[in-house]
This record gives sequence, C-alpha cells and structure tokens, in this order.
Amino acid sequence: MKRITTIFIALVIALSMVGTAFAGNLVVATDTNFPPFEFKDPKTGQHTGFDVELWDALAKEIGVEYDLQPMAFKGIVPGLQSAQLDAGIAGMSITDKRREVIDFSDGYYDSGLLLLVRADDTSITGIDTLDGKIVATKQGTTSVEFLKENANTAETKLFPNDNAMFMELLTGGVDAVMFDKPVIESFVSKRGKGEVKIVGDLYAGQPYGIGFPKDSELVSKVNAALKAIKANGTYNALYKKWFGVDAR
Ligand code: GLN
Repeated sequence: MKRITTIFIALVIALSMVGTAFAGNLVVATDTNFPPFEFKDPKTGQHTGFDVELWDALAKEIGVEYDLQPMAFKGIVPGLQSAQLDAGIAGMSITDKRREVIDFSDGYYDSGLLLLVRADDTSITGIDTLDGKIVATKQGTTSVEFLKENANTAETKLFPNDNAMFMELLTGGVDAVMFDKPVIESFVSKRGKGEVKIVGDLYAGQPYGIGFPKDSELVSKVNAALKAIKANGTYNALYKKWFGVDAR
C-alpha cells in the first residue's frame, strides 16, 4: 500500500511538472486581415489562410503548442521587440530596418508591391504619375516607406486594415492603393472585379519572413522545420491550396 502511495505521489509531482513546462503556449501573432495569408473565415469565425496553416504545419513539425493572436499589423513588430509575442506570421516583409529590432526566419514567400487604381482611371500609369494624387495604404507597412521615398503624392492616407483602404478607393476617397502583390491580386480577382486595375510594375521585390524577438531560439528551429516541410511536400500542398499554383 505504502509503495502504491509513493508511486501515486511521484506521479502527481511528475504530472504537475509537465503542466508547468507546457503551461505557457507560444503566443503567435498574425494580421487580422491580409487575404489569402490570413483572414477570418466567415463560416467558422476562425482565422485561416496560407500563413495560418503554414505556422500550424511548422509548429507540428517542431512540436510546440501555440495560441494564435490576430492583431493590427502595426503592433506586431513592437510586440516582438518587447517579447510580448513569441512569433509573428503576417505576410511580413524582411527589411533591414526591421532586422535592427527583430529576427526573421528564412524567407517563405516572394512578394513585392503593386499600384491599384479604379478601372476608368487613365491619369495614373505607375509610381512616377502619382504627383498630387491621394494614395492609400496600411499603417506600419513597407508601402508607407516606399511611397515616402519614391512618390510625390499630395497625401498618403494610412488605414489600419486592408478592407478600409480598398473601400476608400472604390468610393473615390483616394486615387490609388499601394500594397502587397498577393493581396492586391486577390482583391482584383474577387471583390474588386471589374472596378479596379493594376498599373505600373512590380515594385520593391521583398520576401516574407516569420518574425521573432531578437535571439529567439525558435529561429533555427523554424528554419529547420521550413526545410523539412519543403522537402516532404507539405509546403507545396499549402501553396497550391492557397495560390492555385505550385510553389516556385
Ligand atoms: N508585407 C507588408 C509589410 O511587411 C504588409 C504586411 C501586412 O499588411 N500584413 O509591411
């Protein structure tokens, strides 16, 4: 009897230790709305998309539990910098400026910026025709910097999310939207169909990376996991599911 009690107590202690070790799930931020990388599925009310499923595959490969935290994009880099977040997967472009304050995984998607105007606009044909125009983009994104450095707009209107800036273009509040290629293309082929068009070139090619607090031990684990899911076909299956083509 005494032996059974001892085993029982040992078991309780062991279990409580496991509980402590796993108590803190990783907090992983994503953007609230950046389709098809992350968006709220209207049917389930849950966030889904390429980033969401890619992270899930990486977490399974590494063997970590996490809580997904959708938030305004501009809060993600500061949240990583202050280590309130453990990781951020949000179509986040790898830039030298961000590298000063956070770490990135290897790139997992090649992107760039596009310029979108209303279908009947003939005055804007590219970045060098934005003089005196009002252009919308999202707060805290690489498009803000790009416009500042490369265009002579009358005003750059900053919105917290994609929906608001696209709405503003449709209703005439701005002349153009500058934003990430895959999101612009998704809008052109779905909600904006027939009402908008892409003009100019693909600007500022930039890969997306997963962000981490500086010196996070997750960086090397995630990079290894990324390699593993590329090798076993998981990455390509997700790419095909969300972008309709094989990964390049
Ligand atoms: N790729 C852009 C950036 O990193 C936009 C990301 C986003 O809006 N989620 O700034």
